[in-house]
Amino acid sequence: MITAKKFLWLPFLVVACAAPPEPVPDTQPHLGIRWVRDSAEYVAVATQVYRTAENALPGMVADQDWSALPYQRDAAHLPPAVILDIDQTSLTNPVFQAYIWREPPFTEERLNDWSAAHDATPTPGINAYAEKAKRHDVSLFFITNRECRPNAESSEPCPQKAVVIQDLLEAGLPASAENVFLAAEREGWGKEKRARFEWIAENYRVIQLIGDDLGDFIPCVRRRPVEPCTVGATIDNRFEATAEYGDYWGAGWYILPNPMHGSWTSVR
Ligand SMILES: [Mg+2]
Repeated sequence: MITAKKFLWLPFLVVACAAPPEPVPDTQPHLGIRWVRDSAEYVAVATQVYRTAENALPGMVADQDWSALPYQRDAAHLPPAVILDIDQTSLTNPVFQAYIWREPPFTEERLNDWSAAHDATPTPGINAYAEKAKRHDVSLFFITNRECRPNAESSEPCPQKAVVIQDLLEAGLPASAENVFLAAEREGWGKEKRARFEWIAENYRVIQLIGDDLGDFIPCVRRRPVEPCTVGATIDNRFEATAEYGDYWGAGWYILPNPMHGSWTSVR
């Protein structure tokens, strides 16, 4: 039987099950960078995403049965929190992306060095969102796949964390060692974010997720799987996962556009 929900997604699934798409030559890889850096449309879309999330906050705070994590149960007694990604979600860095496009390759070290040397830019709309979250006593957690890598220049186990926190503070966001978590910061915290989500969900009711990559919401969306995923993603199964969680988009899950990079570029 086709329920109303399934019916709504049926055209989508038909597309998802179609033959693999014809390859399209990537002749303008810089177009996405230009769009984020130069277009007023990007500012409008990002503002729209954050305002939509902001407007939903009071209702989600009040509804103690609500969680944006499909697997979170019995959280009514816990204080509300939101989990945000950082790059291209809380911060936007098309100027860095343009620099890397002109002078590849991208490496985590280059992002860290560039971030340390430049003021970070908040994504349009996020500052108003953060202020509203504060007024409603909603905690913000910033989860990034920038990675902890001990190096010879520092005695810190995660020398990159201070740069990430500084970036968020420069953007006017409430960041500290207690609400910013990098990949590999603790045992078992890999590039898949679920372990970090579950750690937060032990003490908070997670009422919204905000990100720019499918992996900020759904696990195992990369072509080359990383722990604990065992199967690589494809264009088709990413569409299917997006449809499976269709009820959350714009209603607990809020995604920013990122045409510059992301796990979507890894699949075919
Ligand atoms: Mg991101």
